[in-house]
Amino acid sequence: MKLIIMGPPGAGKGTQAAYIKKYYNIPHISTGDMFREAIKEETDLGLEAKSYIEKGALVPDSVTIGLVEERLSKSDCKDGFLLDGFPRTIPQAKALDEILHNLKIKLDAVINISVPDSVLVDRIVGRRVCKNCGAGYHIHNQKPRQDGVCDVCGGPLIQRKDDTEETVVNRLKVYSSQTKPLLEYYDKAKLVKTVNGIGDIQEIFKNIQNLLGGNE
Ligand code: ADP
Ligand code: ADP
Ligand code: ZN
Repeated sequence: MKLIIMGPPGAGKGTQAAYIKKYYNIPHISTGDMFREAIKEETDLGLEAKSYIEKGALVPDSVTIGLVEERLSKSDCKDGFLLDGFPRTIPQAKALDEILHNLKIKLDAVINISVPDSVLVDRIVGRRVCKNCGAGYHIHNQKPRQDGVCDVCGGPLIQRKDDTEETVVNRLKVYSSQTKPLLEYYDKAKLVKTVNGIGDIQEIFKNIQNLLGGNE
């Protein structure tokens, strides 16, 4: 399975990606996670990405495309992958087409998680993530067994620096103007499969499995 997962910030991409990755046994490639890792390690990439991310702006295409090209060229992507958070602009999508063409890889589907703006702010502001392993939670919707502690690894749960009400507004605007047009781009290639992102997390995953051709 060679997949892209799309949707506005807070739609549930990371949450569903954890299930998809496990079920199809494919690497989960999240540019957001890659940038956060680089920021934590204070690499040159991290230093460059940080100022953009904290404002809720996009990291420049020139930086982002190279990062993804390098990742997709690794051998673990040969039989499948799940791209999350990339592409986010039309130039990124065009660059991805070229990268995949050169690697002789064809996309199977673009999963689009559809969620109205009205619930996104609450999802983002209430999101908590594990500092150690990155697992995602929500203060009301997806609580850990013990407050502030990761179910998976016992690490501390923190709030992302860009998950504030002020930054969210900008991120939603950026999504509408720069990323949403990609749905039309991929629709032309008949790749888009839209799933309703409101409801039970497991149910949504089942719907994604069905859209991808059942439980093979
Ligand atoms: P979310 O899933 O909430 O939308 P991500 O973790 O995907 O957030 O991304 C967090 C931030 O990282 C974005 O707001 C943006 O600043 C940066 N980022 C991630 N992916 C890209 C990309 N493909 N192009 C540019 N910036 C990106
Ligand atoms: P994205 O990667 O698209 O930004 P996440 O997967 O991180 O989104 O989810 C955003 C927040 O919403 C998280 O706090 C998560 O626990 C919560 N969430 C995810 N899916 C659902 C759902 N179906 N119903 C309610 N809350 C959800
Ligand atoms: Zn953890």
